[in-house]
Amino acid sequence: MQRITILGATGSIGVSTLDVIARHPDRYSVYALSAHSRVEELAAQCIQFRPSRAVVGSAAAADRLAALLRAAGCRTEVEWGEAALCAVSSAAETDAVMAAIVGAAGLAPTLAAARAGKKVMLANKEALVMSGQLFMDAVAESGAVLLPIDSEHNAIFQCLPQGYGRVPAAAGVTKILLTASGGPFLKREVATLENVTPDEACKHPKWVMGRKISVDSATMMNKGLEVIEAHWLFGAPAGQIEVVIHPQSVIHSMVSYSDGSVLAELGNPDMRTPIAHALAYPERIASGVAQLDLTQVGTLQFEKPDFNRFPCLALAFEALRAGGTAPALLNAANEVAVQAFLDERIGFRRIDRVIARVMEELPHGAASSIEAVMAQDALARAAAERIIAG
Ligand code: NDP
Ligand code: MG
Repeated sequence: MQRITILGATGSIGVSTLDVIARHPDRYSVYALSAHSRVEELAAQCIQFRPSRAVVGSAAAADRLAALLRAAGCRTEVEWGEAALCAVSSAAETDAVMAAIVGAAGLAPTLAAARAGKKVMLANKEALVMSGQLFMDAVAESGAVLLPIDSEHNAIFQCLPQGYGRVPAAAGVTKILLTASGGPFLKREVATLENVTPDEACKHPKWVMGRKISVDSATMMNKGLEVIEAHWLFGAPAGQIEVVIHPQSVIHSMVSYSDGSVLAELGNPDMRTPIAHALAYPERIASGVAQLDLTQVGTLQFEKPDFNRFPCLALAFEALRAGGTAPALLNAANEVAVQAFLDERIGFRRIDRVIARVMEELPHGAASSIEAVMAQDALARAAAERIIAG
Protein backbone atom coordinates (compact mmCIF):
# COMPACT_ATOMS: atom_id res chain seq x y z
CA MET A 1 0.00 0.00 0.00
CA GLN A 2 1.53 3.34 -1.07
CA ARG A 3 0.62 6.35 1.08
CA ILE A 4 0.28 9.43 -1.10
CA THR A 5 0.48 13.17 -0.38
CA ILE A 6 -1.12 15.40 -3.01
CA LEU A 7 0.06 19.01 -3.03
CA GLY A 8 -2.54 21.03 -4.98
CA ALA A 9 -5.29 18.41 -4.61
CA THR A 10 -8.10 20.75 -5.71
CA GLY A 11 -6.45 21.64 -9.02
CA SER A 12 -6.75 19.97 -12.38
CA ILE A 13 -3.84 17.55 -11.75
CA GLY A 14 -4.88 16.96 -8.14
CA VAL A 15 -8.43 15.97 -9.13
CA SER A 16 -7.13 13.64 -11.88
CA THR A 17 -4.74 12.04 -9.37
CA LEU A 18 -7.58 11.33 -6.93
CA ASP A 19 -9.61 9.90 -9.82
CA VAL A 20 -6.84 7.35 -10.54
CA ILE A 21 -6.29 6.60 -6.83
CA ALA A 22 -10.03 5.96 -6.33
CA ARG A 23 -9.81 3.19 -8.97
CA HIS A 24 -7.18 1.30 -6.91
CA PRO A 25 -8.11 1.34 -3.21
CA ASP A 26 -6.07 -1.87 -2.78
CA ARG A 27 -2.84 -0.11 -3.88
CA TYR A 28 -3.04 3.50 -2.66
CA SER A 29 -4.19 5.42 0.40
CA VAL A 30 -4.14 9.20 0.84
CA TYR A 31 -1.90 10.54 3.62
CA ALA A 32 -2.33 14.31 3.05
CA LEU A 33 -4.11 16.74 0.73
CA SER A 34 -3.49 20.45 0.19
CA ALA A 35 -5.33 23.39 -1.36
CA HIS A 36 -4.85 27.13 -1.20
CA SER A 37 -8.31 28.69 -0.83
CA ARG A 38 -10.90 26.30 -2.33
CA VAL A 39 -11.94 25.00 1.08
CA GLU A 40 -15.30 23.43 0.12
CA GLU A 41 -13.65 21.32 -2.60
CA LEU A 42 -10.91 20.20 -0.21
CA ALA A 43 -13.48 19.34 2.47
CA ALA A 44 -15.35 17.09 0.01
CA GLN A 45 -12.08 15.35 -0.91
CA CYS A 46 -11.19 14.83 2.78
CA ILE A 47 -14.63 13.35 3.48
CA GLN A 48 -14.23 10.93 0.56
CA PHE A 49 -10.55 9.94 0.99
CA ARG A 50 -10.07 10.38 4.80
CA PRO A 51 -6.43 11.65 4.76
CA SER A 52 -4.58 12.01 8.08
CA ARG A 53 -3.72 15.66 7.33
CA ALA A 54 -4.98 18.56 5.19
CA VAL A 55 -3.17 21.86 4.55
CA VAL A 56 -4.57 25.20 3.32
CA GLY A 57 -3.14 28.66 2.68
CA SER A 58 -4.34 30.73 5.65
CA ALA A 59 -5.59 30.54 9.23
CA ALA A 60 -9.05 31.66 8.11
CA ALA A 61 -9.21 28.90 5.48
CA ALA A 62 -8.04 26.38 8.11
CA ASP A 63 -10.85 27.45 10.48
CA ARG A 64 -13.45 27.06 7.74
CA LEU A 65 -12.09 23.66 6.71
CA ALA A 66 -11.96 22.40 10.31
CA ALA A 67 -15.62 23.45 10.83
CA LEU A 68 -16.75 21.66 7.66
CA LEU A 69 -14.87 18.49 8.60
CA ARG A 70 -16.16 18.53 12.19
CA ALA A 71 -19.75 18.82 10.93
CA ALA A 72 -19.16 15.77 8.70
CA GLY A 73 -17.48 13.70 11.43
CA CYS A 74 -14.17 13.62 9.51
CA ARG A 75 -11.08 13.50 11.75
CA THR A 76 -8.47 14.83 9.30
CA GLU A 77 -6.02 17.14 11.10
CA VAL A 78 -6.07 20.67 9.57
CA GLU A 79 -2.95 22.83 9.21
CA TRP A 80 -1.97 25.88 7.16
CA GLY A 81 1.03 27.60 5.59
CA GLU A 82 4.28 26.70 3.84
CA ALA A 83 5.90 24.96 6.83
CA ALA A 84 2.91 22.61 7.05
CA LEU A 85 3.15 21.88 3.29
CA CYS A 86 6.83 20.98 3.74
CA ALA A 87 5.96 18.82 6.76
CA VAL A 88 3.33 16.72 4.96
CA SER A 89 5.54 16.23 1.92
CA SER A 90 8.52 15.01 3.97
CA ALA A 91 6.67 13.09 6.72
CA ALA A 92 7.84 9.55 7.47
CA GLU A 93 4.24 8.34 6.99
CA THR A 94 4.14 9.28 3.27
CA ASP A 95 5.82 7.26 0.50
CA ALA A 96 5.08 9.40 -2.55
CA VAL A 97 4.24 13.05 -3.23
CA MET A 98 2.28 14.42 -6.18
CA ALA A 99 3.73 17.93 -6.61
CA ALA A 100 0.82 19.74 -8.28
CA ILE A 101 0.77 23.23 -6.77
CA VAL A 102 0.88 25.84 -9.53
CA GLY A 103 3.82 28.25 -9.77
CA ALA A 104 6.73 29.19 -7.52
CA ALA A 105 4.60 28.47 -4.42
CA GLY A 106 5.26 24.78 -5.08
CA LEU A 107 9.04 25.03 -4.84
CA ALA A 108 9.61 24.67 -1.07
CA PRO A 109 7.31 21.66 -0.45
CA THR A 110 8.46 19.89 -3.62
CA LEU A 111 12.08 20.37 -2.61
CA ALA A 112 11.24 19.12 0.90
CA ALA A 113 9.88 15.90 -0.63
CA ALA A 114 13.02 15.50 -2.76
CA ARG A 115 15.32 16.09 0.22
CA ALA A 116 13.38 13.52 2.26
CA GLY A 117 14.02 10.89 -0.45
CA LYS A 118 10.37 10.40 -1.41
CA LYS A 119 9.03 9.23 -4.73
CA VAL A 120 8.35 12.66 -6.25
CA MET A 121 5.77 12.82 -9.04
CA LEU A 122 6.53 16.21 -10.54
CA ALA A 123 3.80 18.26 -12.22
CA ASN A 124 4.98 21.61 -10.78
CA LYS A 125 7.43 22.40 -13.60
CA GLU A 126 8.05 25.89 -12.20
CA ALA A 127 10.05 24.35 -9.29
CA LEU A 128 12.50 22.76 -11.73
CA VAL A 129 12.66 25.86 -13.95
CA MET A 130 13.56 28.07 -10.98
CA SER A 131 16.16 25.88 -9.34
CA GLY A 132 16.95 22.96 -11.62
CA GLN A 133 20.48 22.26 -10.44
CA LEU A 134 19.63 22.57 -6.74
CA PHE A 135 16.58 20.36 -7.20
CA MET A 136 18.42 17.64 -9.15
CA ASP A 137 21.27 17.74 -6.60
CA ALA A 138 18.75 17.18 -3.79
CA VAL A 139 17.27 14.21 -5.66
CA ALA A 140 20.72 12.69 -6.23
CA GLU A 141 21.80 13.19 -2.61
CA SER A 142 18.69 11.73 -0.99
CA GLY A 143 18.07 8.94 -3.50
CA ALA A 144 14.57 10.25 -4.20
CA VAL A 145 12.82 8.77 -7.25
CA LEU A 146 11.79 11.56 -9.60
CA LEU A 147 8.99 10.75 -12.07
CA PRO A 148 7.74 13.36 -14.54
CA ILE A 149 3.99 14.00 -14.75
CA ASP A 150 4.10 16.65 -17.47
CA SER A 151 2.82 14.58 -20.42
CA GLU A 152 5.79 15.41 -22.68
CA HIS A 153 8.39 14.55 -20.06
CA ASN A 154 6.54 11.44 -19.02
CA ALA A 155 6.54 10.39 -22.70
CA ILE A 156 10.29 11.09 -23.02
CA PHE A 157 10.95 9.14 -19.83
CA GLN A 158 9.10 6.19 -21.37
CA CYS A 159 11.02 6.50 -24.69
CA LEU A 160 14.50 6.68 -23.12
CA PRO A 161 16.39 3.41 -22.64
CA GLN A 162 14.73 1.47 -19.80
CA GLY A 163 15.94 2.29 -16.33
CA TYR A 164 17.84 5.47 -17.24
CA GLY A 165 15.54 8.44 -16.79
CA ARG A 166 18.38 10.63 -18.07
CA VAL A 167 20.01 10.87 -21.49
CA PRO A 168 22.93 8.46 -21.08
CA ALA A 169 26.04 9.56 -22.97
CA ALA A 170 26.59 6.19 -24.64
CA ALA A 171 22.99 5.27 -25.51
CA GLY A 172 22.95 6.99 -28.90
CA VAL A 173 20.26 9.54 -28.11
CA THR A 174 20.58 12.38 -30.63
CA LYS A 175 17.54 14.56 -29.89
CA ILE A 176 14.58 15.05 -27.63
CA LEU A 177 11.57 16.06 -29.73
CA LEU A 178 9.15 17.94 -27.50
CA THR A 179 5.69 18.09 -29.07
CA ALA A 180 3.40 21.10 -28.61
CA SER A 181 -0.25 21.50 -29.60
CA GLY A 182 0.30 25.17 -30.47
CA GLY A 183 -2.61 26.12 -28.19
CA PRO A 184 -5.77 28.02 -29.13
CA PHE A 185 -4.01 30.69 -31.23
CA LEU A 186 -1.91 28.55 -33.57
CA LYS A 187 -3.80 29.74 -36.67
CA ARG A 188 -5.24 33.04 -35.46
CA GLU A 189 -4.17 36.24 -37.30
CA VAL A 190 -1.24 37.61 -35.22
CA ALA A 191 -2.55 41.19 -35.49
CA THR A 192 -5.76 40.18 -33.67
CA LEU A 193 -3.97 38.60 -30.68
CA GLU A 194 -3.87 41.99 -28.94
CA ASN A 195 -7.61 41.71 -28.25
CA VAL A 196 -8.07 38.14 -27.07
CA THR A 197 -9.85 37.64 -23.72
CA PRO A 198 -8.70 35.46 -20.80
CA ASP A 199 -11.53 33.01 -21.53
CA GLU A 200 -10.42 32.66 -25.17
CA ALA A 201 -6.82 32.11 -24.06
CA CYS A 202 -7.92 29.45 -21.54
CA LYS A 203 -9.96 27.49 -24.10
CA HIS A 204 -7.32 24.89 -24.97
CA PRO A 205 -8.20 22.78 -28.02
CA LYS A 206 -6.96 19.47 -26.55
CA TRP A 207 -6.24 19.62 -22.79
CA VAL A 208 -8.38 20.71 -19.82
CA MET A 209 -6.02 22.48 -17.38
CA GLY A 210 -5.77 25.21 -14.74
CA ARG A 211 -5.94 28.84 -15.96
CA LYS A 212 -2.26 29.73 -15.50
CA ILE A 213 -0.90 26.82 -17.55
CA SER A 214 -3.68 27.37 -20.12
CA VAL A 215 -2.47 30.95 -20.73
CA ASP A 216 1.11 29.61 -20.84
CA SER A 217 -0.04 27.21 -23.57
CA ALA A 218 -1.58 30.07 -25.55
CA THR A 219 1.70 32.07 -25.44
CA MET A 220 3.76 28.84 -25.73
CA MET A 221 5.66 29.88 -22.60
CA ASN A 222 4.48 26.50 -21.35
CA LYS A 223 6.62 24.84 -24.03
CA GLY A 224 9.49 27.17 -23.13
CA LEU A 225 9.26 26.15 -19.47
CA GLU A 226 9.11 22.53 -20.63
CA VAL A 227 12.33 22.92 -22.65
CA ILE A 228 14.04 24.06 -19.43
CA GLU A 229 12.32 21.25 -17.51
CA ALA A 230 13.58 18.68 -20.06
CA HIS A 231 17.10 20.10 -19.82
CA TRP A 232 17.21 19.44 -16.07
CA LEU A 233 15.23 16.21 -15.93
CA PHE A 234 17.15 14.45 -18.68
CA GLY A 235 20.50 16.26 -18.60
CA ALA A 236 20.12 17.40 -22.22
CA PRO A 237 21.69 20.66 -23.51
CA ALA A 238 19.43 23.26 -25.22
CA GLY A 239 20.79 22.26 -28.65
CA GLN A 240 19.58 18.68 -28.15
CA ILE A 241 15.96 19.72 -27.48
CA GLU A 242 13.68 20.54 -30.42
CA VAL A 243 10.07 21.75 -30.30
CA VAL A 244 7.68 20.27 -32.88
CA ILE A 245 4.11 21.53 -33.26
CA HIS A 246 1.65 18.64 -33.39
CA PRO A 247 -1.94 19.98 -33.13
CA GLN A 248 -3.60 16.58 -32.47
CA SER A 249 -1.62 16.05 -29.19
CA VAL A 250 -1.69 12.28 -29.78
CA ILE A 251 2.11 11.93 -29.75
CA HIS A 252 3.17 13.29 -26.37
CA SER A 253 6.89 13.57 -27.29
CA MET A 254 9.67 11.56 -28.95
CA VAL A 255 13.29 10.54 -28.59
CA SER A 256 15.49 10.29 -31.65
CA TYR A 257 18.46 7.87 -31.82
CA SER A 258 21.70 7.77 -33.83
CA ASP A 259 20.59 4.79 -35.95
CA GLY A 260 17.64 6.81 -37.30
CA SER A 261 15.01 5.36 -34.95
CA VAL A 262 12.50 7.73 -33.37
CA LEU A 263 10.55 6.38 -30.39
CA ALA A 264 7.25 8.06 -29.51
CA GLU A 265 4.64 7.66 -26.78
CA LEU A 266 1.05 8.01 -28.01
CA GLY A 267 -2.28 8.19 -26.27
CA ASN A 268 -5.47 10.17 -25.85
CA PRO A 269 -4.69 13.59 -24.32
CA ASP A 270 -5.71 12.92 -20.70
CA MET A 271 -3.36 13.56 -17.75
CA ARG A 272 -4.59 10.42 -15.98
CA THR A 273 -2.23 8.40 -18.24
CA PRO A 274 1.05 9.97 -17.03
CA ILE A 275 -0.36 10.12 -13.48
CA ALA A 276 -1.15 6.37 -13.50
CA HIS A 277 2.25 5.68 -15.07
CA ALA A 278 4.05 7.47 -12.25
CA LEU A 279 1.85 6.08 -9.48
CA ALA A 280 2.42 2.46 -10.55
CA TYR A 281 5.94 2.72 -12.04
CA PRO A 282 7.45 0.34 -13.09
CA GLU A 283 4.14 -1.54 -13.24
CA ARG A 284 1.07 -0.50 -15.27
CA ILE A 285 -2.45 0.11 -13.93
CA ALA A 286 -5.78 1.21 -15.40
CA SER A 287 -6.16 5.00 -15.53
CA GLY A 288 -9.73 5.41 -16.77
CA VAL A 289 -8.44 6.77 -20.11
CA ALA A 290 -9.98 5.21 -23.22
CA GLN A 291 -7.61 3.25 -25.47
CA LEU A 292 -6.31 5.25 -28.43
CA ASP A 293 -8.06 4.48 -31.72
CA LEU A 294 -5.72 5.74 -34.47
CA THR A 295 -8.32 5.10 -37.18
CA GLN A 296 -10.55 7.63 -35.40
CA VAL A 297 -7.67 10.15 -35.22
CA GLY A 298 -6.93 9.65 -38.94
CA THR A 299 -4.22 12.28 -39.47
CA LEU A 300 -1.20 13.35 -37.47
CA GLN A 301 0.31 16.72 -38.47
CA PHE A 302 3.64 18.36 -37.61
CA GLU A 303 5.13 21.80 -38.19
CA LYS A 304 7.97 24.00 -36.98
CA PRO A 305 7.12 26.62 -34.32
CA ASP A 306 6.96 30.26 -35.47
CA PHE A 307 9.04 32.27 -32.98
CA ASN A 308 7.47 35.57 -34.18
CA ARG A 309 4.01 34.33 -33.29
CA PHE A 310 5.31 32.85 -30.01
CA PRO A 311 8.09 35.16 -28.68
CA CYS A 312 7.81 33.57 -25.22
CA LEU A 313 9.29 30.37 -26.61
CA ALA A 314 12.35 32.29 -27.81
CA LEU A 315 12.66 34.05 -24.42
CA ALA A 316 12.72 30.67 -22.65
CA PHE A 317 15.47 29.29 -24.91
CA GLU A 318 17.46 32.50 -24.22
CA ALA A 319 17.02 32.07 -20.46
CA LEU A 320 18.13 28.44 -20.62
CA ARG A 321 21.26 29.39 -22.59
CA ALA A 322 21.99 32.27 -20.18
CA GLY A 323 21.77 29.85 -17.21
CA GLY A 324 22.11 30.78 -13.52
CA THR A 325 19.04 32.58 -12.21
CA ALA A 326 17.85 33.67 -15.69
CA PRO A 327 15.14 30.94 -15.81
CA ALA A 328 13.95 31.98 -12.33
CA LEU A 329 13.64 35.61 -13.54
CA LEU A 330 11.75 34.42 -16.63
CA ASN A 331 9.40 32.29 -14.54
CA ALA A 332 8.63 35.00 -11.98
CA ALA A 333 8.03 37.69 -14.63
CA ASN A 334 5.78 35.27 -16.49
CA GLU A 335 3.71 34.44 -13.40
CA VAL A 336 3.10 38.14 -12.72
CA ALA A 337 2.33 38.96 -16.36
CA VAL A 338 -0.07 36.01 -16.75
CA GLN A 339 -1.93 37.00 -13.57
CA ALA A 340 -2.17 40.59 -14.85
CA PHE A 341 -3.59 39.28 -18.13
CA LEU A 342 -6.11 37.05 -16.30
CA ASP A 343 -7.12 40.11 -14.19
CA GLU A 344 -7.51 42.10 -17.45
CA ARG A 345 -4.85 44.61 -16.42
CA ILE A 346 -2.78 43.99 -19.59
CA GLY A 347 -3.48 42.68 -23.07
CA PHE A 348 -2.29 39.28 -24.30
CA ARG A 349 0.58 40.67 -26.39
CA ARG A 350 2.01 42.54 -23.40
CA ILE A 351 2.82 39.28 -21.60
CA ASP A 352 5.96 38.64 -23.66
CA ARG A 353 6.95 42.32 -23.61
CA VAL A 354 6.80 42.49 -19.80
CA ILE A 355 8.97 39.37 -19.53
CA ALA A 356 11.48 40.67 -22.09
CA ARG A 357 11.78 44.01 -20.22
CA VAL A 358 12.38 42.25 -16.90
CA MET A 359 15.03 40.03 -18.50
CA GLU A 360 16.74 43.11 -20.02
CA GLU A 361 16.63 45.16 -16.83
CA LEU A 362 17.73 42.61 -14.26
CA PRO A 363 21.18 41.03 -14.35
CA HIS A 364 21.03 37.34 -13.54
CA GLY A 365 23.40 35.73 -11.09
CA ALA A 366 24.44 32.28 -9.94
CA ALA A 367 21.66 29.97 -8.72
CA SER A 368 23.86 28.94 -5.80
CA SER A 369 21.18 28.54 -3.13
CA ILE A 370 17.40 28.54 -2.77
CA GLU A 371 17.72 31.89 -0.97
CA ALA A 372 19.58 33.38 -3.98
CA VAL A 373 16.89 32.03 -6.33
CA MET A 374 14.04 33.37 -4.18
CA ALA A 375 15.73 36.79 -3.95
CA GLN A 376 15.87 36.98 -7.77
CA ASP A 377 12.28 35.75 -7.94
CA ALA A 378 11.20 38.63 -5.66
CA LEU A 379 13.18 41.22 -7.68
CA ALA A 380 11.64 39.98 -10.94
CA ARG A 381 8.11 40.10 -9.50
CA ALA A 382 8.62 43.69 -8.30
CA ALA A 383 10.09 44.74 -11.67
CA ALA A 384 7.23 43.10 -13.58
CA GLU A 385 4.61 44.81 -11.39
CA ARG A 386 6.33 48.19 -11.92
CA ILE A 387 6.48 47.70 -15.71
CA ILE A 388 2.79 46.67 -15.79
CA ALA A 389 1.75 49.66 -13.67
CA GLY A 390 3.76 52.02 -15.92
P1 NDP B 1 -4.68 24.46 -10.98
O1 NDP B 1 -4.70 25.92 -11.03
O2 NDP B 1 -5.82 23.69 -11.54
O3 NDP B 1 -4.44 23.95 -9.46
C1 NDP B 1 -3.45 24.50 -8.68
C2 NDP B 1 -3.45 23.89 -7.27
O4 NDP B 1 -2.47 24.58 -6.48
C3 NDP B 1 -4.77 24.05 -6.53
O5 NDP B 1 -4.95 22.97 -5.66
C4 NDP B 1 -4.56 25.35 -5.77
O6 NDP B 1 -5.39 25.47 -4.61
C5 NDP B 1 -3.10 25.22 -5.37
N1 NDP B 1 -2.47 26.52 -5.16
C6 NDP B 1 -2.61 27.64 -5.93
N2 NDP B 1 -1.86 28.66 -5.43
C7 NDP B 1 -1.23 28.16 -4.34
C8 NDP B 1 -0.34 28.73 -3.37
N3 NDP B 1 0.07 30.02 -3.45
N4 NDP B 1 0.08 27.94 -2.36
C9 NDP B 1 -0.31 26.65 -2.27
N5 NDP B 1 -1.16 26.07 -3.14
C10 NDP B 1 -1.61 26.81 -4.17
O7 NDP B 1 -3.32 24.00 -11.71
P2 NDP B 1 -3.02 22.69 -12.56
O8 NDP B 1 -3.48 21.48 -11.83
O9 NDP B 1 -3.43 22.89 -13.96
O10 NDP B 1 -1.42 22.70 -12.58
C11 NDP B 1 -0.65 22.36 -11.43
C12 NDP B 1 0.81 22.23 -11.86
O11 NDP B 1 0.92 21.15 -12.77
C13 NDP B 1 1.36 23.46 -12.58
O12 NDP B 1 2.70 23.64 -12.23
C14 NDP B 1 1.27 23.09 -14.05
O13 NDP B 1 2.25 23.71 -14.83
C15 NDP B 1 1.51 21.59 -13.98
N6 NDP B 1 0.93 20.84 -15.09
C16 NDP B 1 -0.42 20.80 -15.27
C17 NDP B 1 -0.99 20.12 -16.32
C18 NDP B 1 -2.48 20.03 -16.48
O14 NDP B 1 -2.95 19.29 -17.35
N7 NDP B 1 -3.29 20.73 -15.71
C19 NDP B 1 -0.15 19.43 -17.30
C20 NDP B 1 1.26 19.49 -17.01
C21 NDP B 1 1.76 20.18 -15.95
P3 NDP B 1 -6.88 26.17 -4.73
O15 NDP B 1 -7.68 25.21 -5.53
O16 NDP B 1 -7.34 26.27 -3.33
O17 NDP B 1 -6.66 27.48 -5.42
MG1 MG C 1 3.07 19.56 -20.83
